[in-house]
Amino acid sequence: MGGDMNYSTRPAELPQRTAGPVGKQIHDIYKSRLGLFTGNGQYRSQNLQSKLYYGKASGEDHVKLSVYSPPDLQRPTFQDATSHEFKPTNVGATFGPSWSTHWIKVQLKVPASLQMHDLLELHWDAGNEGLIWTEDGEPIQGLTGNGERIEWILPKSFHDGHFHTIYIEMACNAMFGNAPGGDMIQPPVPNRYFTLFKADIVAVNQEARQLYIDFWVLGDAAREFPDDSWQEHRALQLGNKIMNTFETEEHSQDSILEGRRIASEFLGDVDSAKVYDTDQEPVVYAVGNCHIDTSWLWPWAETKRKIARSWSNQCDLIDRYPEHRFAASQAQQFKWLEQLYPKLFDRVKTKIKEGRFQPVGGSWVEHDTNLPSGESLVRQFLYGQRYFESRFGERSRTFWLPDTFGYSSQLPQVTRLAGMSRFFTQKISWNNINNFPHTTFRWVGLDSSQVLCHMAPDDTYTADANFGDVMRSLTQNKSMDQDPRGLLAFGKGDGGGGPTWEHLEKLRRCRGMSDTTGLLPRVQMGGSVDDFYDKLEKAAEDGTKFVTWYGELYLELHRGTYTTQAKTKWNNRKSEIMLHDLEFLATMATIKDGSYKYPKKQIDDMWEGVLLCQFHDLLPGSALEMCYRDADELYKNVATTGHGLIRQALATIGSGSGDRNSTSPRHSVAINTLPWARAEIVRRSQTHDSPHCFALGNASILSLQDFETPTPSAGASIKEVAEGVFQLSNARFSLEVENGCITSLVDTAEDRELVLKGHKANQLVIYEDKPLYWQAWDVEVYSLDTRKELHSSRSVIKESGPHRVSLETETRISEVSWIKTTLSLAISANDQPTYVEMESEVEWHEDMKFLKVEFPVDILNTEASYETQYGIVKRPTHYNTSWDMAKFEVCCHKWADLSENGYGVSILNESKYGFATAGQTMRLSLLRSPKAPDAHCDMGRHHFRYAILPHAGPLGHETVRTARNFNYPMLVTSLEESAISSSRDLLSSISMSGSKALILDTIKRGEDDEDVSLGELPKRHGRSIIVRVYESLGGRAKGLVKLGDVLGVKKVFKTNALEDDEGEVSLKDGTFSIDLKAFEVATFRLQL
Ligand SMILES: [Zn+2]
Repeated sequence: MGGDMNYSTRPAELPQRTAGPVGKQIHDIYKSRLGLFTGNGQYRSQNLQSKLYYGKASGEDHVKLSVYSPPDLQRPTFQDATSHEFKPTNVGATFGPSWSTHWIKVQLKVPASLQMHDLLELHWDAGNEGLIWTEDGEPIQGLTGNGERIEWILPKSFHDGHFHTIYIEMACNAMFGNAPGGDMIQPPVPNRYFTLFKADIVAVNQEARQLYIDFWVLGDAAREFPDDSWQEHRALQLGNKIMNTFETEEHSQDSILEGRRIASEFLGDVDSAKVYDTDQEPVVYAVGNCHIDTSWLWPWAETKRKIARSWSNQCDLIDRYPEHRFAASQAQQFKWLEQLYPKLFDRVKTKIKEGRFQPVGGSWVEHDTNLPSGESLVRQFLYGQRYFESRFGERSRTFWLPDTFGYSSQLPQVTRLAGMSRFFTQKISWNNINNFPHTTFRWVGLDSSQVLCHMAPDDTYTADANFGDVMRSLTQNKSMDQDPRGLLAFGKGDGGGGPTWEHLEKLRRCRGMSDTTGLLPRVQMGGSVDDFYDKLEKAAEDGTKFVTWYGELYLELHRGTYTTQAKTKWNNRKSEIMLHDLEFLATMATIKDGSYKYPKKQIDDMWEGVLLCQFHDLLPGSALEMCYRDADELYKNVATTGHGLIRQALATIGSGSGDRNSTSPRHSVAINTLPWARAEIVRRSQTHDSPHCFALGNASILSLQDFETPTPSAGASIKEVAEGVFQLSNARFSLEVENGCITSLVDTAEDRELVLKGHKANQLVIYEDKPLYWQAWDVEVYSLDTRKELHSSRSVIKESGPHRVSLETETRISEVSWIKTTLSLAISANDQPTYVEMESEVEWHEDMKFLKVEFPVDILNTEASYETQYGIVKRPTHYNTSWDMAKFEVCCHKWADLSENGYGVSILNESKYGFATAGQTMRLSLLRSPKAPDAHCDMGRHHFRYAILPHAGPLGHETVRTARNFNYPMLVTSLEESAISSSRDLLSSISMSGSKALILDTIKRGEDDEDVSLGELPKRHGRSIIVRVYESLGGRAKGLVKLGDVLGVKKVFKTNALEDDEGEVSLKDGTFSIDLKAFEVATFRLQL
């Protein structure tokens, strides 16, 4: 180059003179301006809102309405409802009361002026939920009022100018039931009415609608990207440019198209699922879901309809959005759909086959994990996985439980035993004291089993799929050192619903924006929950060291749920025990008599009912009063059926002649369904001269023996030593009881006082109980500051020995509430442990009070032990750190224990779950009285038992077994004399020796045995017995299982919890050996 360069061809350069001043934009003002483009305020008629629709048609010429309102809050079927007469109705009409149903016949005629438009929708809003049915009875789409999901796309066949009919099944409840005002947990009002305020045929301007979503996401980018990013500035400029371009008049549609073109500079081409086809590596994996609480602020009857509404929506969206994948959990919900909506079930099943509707979770319901027994946890998976496998050909691989109130330390083991290695949840983000430190981690259970746990980093399972949700799915990931990937579980939820078309449109734009700008985490659609975990498991396999978390995932919130709705908890415990007894006896009855039919159908129905009641808002106590009335009814039926079946099984077992109606001589016995020796006082028939007697023996059938007069030192005695002061004693203990409280409890053999000096055990205390918000759920830490002792009025001796003594004490709680506590002490027979037993009758009418009973004991330890499923969980007795402090109220099963070297005290219970050990004070939680969401929660009469079991030596099998005995009353019955010996052999034919830490927990028949199976899965040849054993104390334990000849066992297999054989176990001389690790659960299948 040189001096002869042609200057006239040089690129344009800055003009010589300025055209005028250009100012720096005032950033915040331009940002605030964005809100004007789509807002509903004063510019609505001049902004994009005014262009969303080409036109509307309403009124009876186009939307003709008539209604049938079933009486008495009935929810009739389509056939029933449409057989009735429909009466004219109109927009503006009101429908109610709460929980009523109204079938509305909607006749639609599209006017000529709208027929040319491609997209016509019915917009329907009555502020409540609805389900659209075709004229011939097919449920096709759900509706949620108040703008949430109000559109239904008219089929093309409706565009013809003639009337077409659909039905809307209107449910008079909103998404979250019928609470008054804005506080959703308040008890529902009975007289809520809903006004139908919108029923229009609408022609949609699709480009305007698309621009609306473009602008929404672009605006979020301008608002939420960091100020120091070029992307934030670019989004802001483009947003303003779209507004500058927009015209409302003649060239409006062109300006909308131009607005979309401008948006695409930032968002890319987002008009199809192709946006996801780029080969860029995503970091956020979005899967649709709709959390339908099986029982919460609505009853089961409404849940069944929510399922149809929600899932039909998702089938529709899957048809319209090829990238959409929808995950649904809870076998119970699928079963209801199958039973009540067969056509919709078939539609869902088709989508499942295509891999687009995805059953997840493996469990019967999304259950609570604190309160159900170990066997219940196993059954949640057994029934859940069997359902999924039988209907859809596959089991779940991921345990899906986003919303439950804390997580048992045995879940990893049980989850693995049910064929799943992954776990998804979220609720721990609700901790109100400590911030849980991980997102993706290996959760290690009591027995060292692990699952790969991922908690949605967005801290919700009901994300609206906004820009911010996608952003937080990365930025809030606490495990980025290992792996930044996060699952985004989006869709309306809790009350059901699931993703909307807006969610899916927004996600397309988020993805497009990631690929064009790089700053937003890249979101992927089209995969499954399992695909996501496959990637994490692959990373683990390739060497990513995901961190570990050992033991329970204690939720630092909702601690009241161990106590609220005491009757439901009582019913749960009793049902679990009844089913244990029934399965054992029915199994043995099938051995005794080939013609006895194992009652599989009834057992399944009962288990499914009990498992249903373990739903995470029901058993914990956070549902509506009407939900508990449903549960009461269910439990009552379970008890009636179960005890009837137990009688039948016993009749078979106890029949000498083989004739169940035989009249040969009978003999009273006690049936012990636990696999160890027992000796207890039992109550025999009312008509007997002495109604109480001893049941003694080391087998399953115990003989009843009249009391012999013990020597005075072996007997139990009671005397009043001063007014209101009583001394009680037996061979082991000596007590002083004053005003119902134990002022002294001496272990005479050990010469040891157990009541902490100057304190009183069995002291009833009451606390103010007003948590920050979630009444039924929470008890807050400050409640502990309001402790008040209750004072007793009088004690009377009810039994005076020599076999048992008891003292009844009445305690006034208030003008309207009282407690009658019977404290008793029995003699010890056959060296069985004795305990101080309390039987309480309570009339409870308090408001926001918490009743507990205290046991200050002279035992020192910084840790206390609590029974959990198949084991023990230890927790601090101090408040050193905020993590320790957070556990001021914890969950226990049948016992809690505080032991020091050489001695300990266990507190047993038969229906309670809340406990605390603070320093040396052990405290059993008895009753609460929250007023929301059930205004009458726990009001009325209660009966419960608990006991103090002191023990020399450390915590051991004595506590575990005595607590079981305390919970499994012996069944007093009569058997034919000629059958007793053989029956005893039969019921004792599966016995275990060796370590006393081993518990033979369950005996049942094989699910798929030829003579048992209901045919839902392939039958297995022959007959088998399932035996489940666990190690209860936390150490290696060995034992031998001896099988009686009467069983004719040919082979033994170790299985998983789903009864899949995992290998044959050596069987020699009718014996096989077991060798379990600490807290291990093992299942064996005995092939007969
Ligand atoms: Zn829930």
